[in-house]
Amino acid sequence: MNKEVRVRFPPSPTGYLHIGGARTAIANWLFARRHGGKLILRIEDTDAERSTKESIKGIIDGMKWLGLDWDEGPYFQTAFTAAHRTAAERLLASGKAYKCFCTREELEAKREAALTAKQTHVGYDGHCRDLAQEQIAAFEAENRPFVVRFKVPPEGEVGYVDKVLGRIARPCNEIEDFVIVRSNGKPLYLLCNVVDDIRDRISHIIRGQDHMTNTLRQILLYQALNAPVPVFAHMPLTLDLKKAKISKRSHGEIVAVQFYRDHGFIPWALVNFLVLLGWNPGDDREIFSKEELIEAFSLERINKSNSIFNYRQGDPKFFTDPKAININGHYLRTMPVEDIAAMVKNELVKDGLWHEAFDGDRKGWYLKTIDMLRERFYTTRDFVTAGRAFFADDFEIEEKALKKNVLKHPDLVKWLPMLADRLEATNEITPEKAEAVARGLAEELGIKMGIPVNAARALITGRIKGPSMFELFAHFDRDTVLKRLRRVGRIFEAAS
Ligand code: GLU
Ligand code: ZN
Repeated sequence: MNKEVRVRFPPSPTGYLHIGGARTAIANWLFARRHGGKLILRIEDTDAERSTKESIKGIIDGMKWLGLDWDEGPYFQTAFTAAHRTAAERLLASGKAYKCFCTREELEAKREAALTAKQTHVGYDGHCRDLAQEQIAAFEAENRPFVVRFKVPPEGEVGYVDKVLGRIARPCNEIEDFVIVRSNGKPLYLLCNVVDDIRDRISHIIRGQDHMTNTLRQILLYQALNAPVPVFAHMPLTLDLKKAKISKRSHGEIVAVQFYRDHGFIPWALVNFLVLLGWNPGDDREIFSKEELIEAFSLERINKSNSIFNYRQGDPKFFTDPKAININGHYLRTMPVEDIAAMVKNELVKDGLWHEAFDGDRKGWYLKTIDMLRERFYTTRDFVTAGRAFFADDFEIEEKALKKNVLKHPDLVKWLPMLADRLEATNEITPEKAEAVARGLAEELGIKMGIPVNAARALITGRIKGPSMFELFAHFDRDTVLKRLRRVGRIFEAAS
């Protein structure tokens, strides 16, 4: 690419950072990084009524959390209102736009008439396009309100080659003279967006297919403003399993990037998941490091068809797309343990389970805990929910562990204190000694070793499954092991 690559992410700050928006941001960011270009963050806050400060903060925090760094901005669209007006005036002065004095009632009446006459094209009829100078002067003298309309060329076609979808074109006579300035003097978003992209020297516009309704009209604006037309690439939409657009209204918080941060996602894992919603590497790879993804990314491989966000509402096990959870689990298990430990620290702090010693004397223990637990976990939240017993004494025993591995064997009330006594008699609990003690006890009692061992897992870790129990007898501190085994009587009492 010989021209400097300059792309932009221009969210409208009317809500949180949506995963669809994040996906667009990721594509732009990757494209900029791939070509040594620049990513510009522009906050399109022109809709003053719907734009909020919290939303701006949420978007910026979300971008930072995802690790999507930008090179310029944030610019705020409202800071450039004068430039938007100047552009409209230039178009008026050069005869490429005109004042339309039609009233709402007049336009409505014409529309009705056209519909009754079954005309296929019921857009604006160009009534004010060639008003006589005296007529214009008369309307202006009486201060009659007007909008500014763009004069669409009467002939020819307008088109472009979309990097994703190929050639898109339409005859100009199918496009009505569209409004660029409202009767209150405010330039329309369609124009502001183009003026800003020209000023920011945007070379490539990568955005969702939902913006395609604007593209041809915007190309006409670029041409009329004598500016080079950027390259366009329109990304497919992300739909749910019922092929409906994913939205906060129908899907709730799950569509917000914030949701993933709060649910123990690793930022890069989410980036990795989101990029695959709408792009493919051309082979079957699904996991990419940052460098690999930058290397592999191209606009040509953006999918043409819509992508599916596979989310079954109401299934707590799959609280979001299972693919997102699996990709997160992959990173959780394969990233350097220190990195995961640092993320888990945040969760522990949030839940009041962090001890300074985990950064001091007990650092080795802490890292080993993270390393053992992550084999079965999917998110960093799992450490404080499913893994709570490793960090606190007040934890619940999961129902199936309690029923299947404890309550089914009333004799455990005797057996587990025996196990505790024998472990106490060893001067240091090692995995080997723990195994020998459990085996000896089971043989003497004529029971399967699994019975006391599985029960011990339930009482010590609260879970039905986990790392090797013999390792765990040695990993937990001795007093904790003995105390939790001896709690067995109380557990039975509480359950009866
Ligand atoms: N502000 C628009 C949005 O948030 C973006 C328009 C564009 O990318 O051109 O949907
Ligand atoms: Zn008119």
